[in-house]
This record gives sequence, C-alpha cells and structure tokens, in this order.
Amino acid sequence: MPIYEYKCAKCDEEFETLVFRSDENVACPHCKGGNVRRLMSACSYKSGESYVPSSGSSGCSTCSSSNCSTCH
Ligand SMILES: [Zn+2]
Repeated sequence: MPIYEYKCAKCDEEFETLVFRSDENVACPHCKGGNVRRLMSACSYKSGESYVPSSGSSGCSTCSSSNCSTCH
C-alpha cells in the first residue's frame, strides 16, 4: 500500500498517511483541515531531489496526479 507524504496548507503540518484509493480524502491530523497537498512523487518541493514527471497525456503536466489543483 502506498504511503504518501502530505503537507497541510493551513497549518504547515507535514504528515504521512496510507492511501488506499487514489481519490482518498486526506485530512490534516493536526487541524483536521482537508486542504493538504501531496508531496512525494507528485509535486516536487524538496530541494536536492528532482522528480521527473511521467509523460502522461492527461492530467497535470508537472506532476503525476490526474487531479492536481495545487501545484500550479
Ligand atoms: Zn493542518
């Protein structure tokens, strides 16, 4: 099962969570807010690590998510 790393846009809490479905709703464990963004392989935040986006024909051009609304 994939473990994804998220960061809350509200309180800057970073956390990891198991995601069972791709459309899983993830809430921040700190403030319970749902405005979180996936870090890991989706959108590259961490300096020193460069993620090469897969050349998918659909979805976000800069990350592998097909429903990315936070990385632009
Ligand atoms: Zn939060």
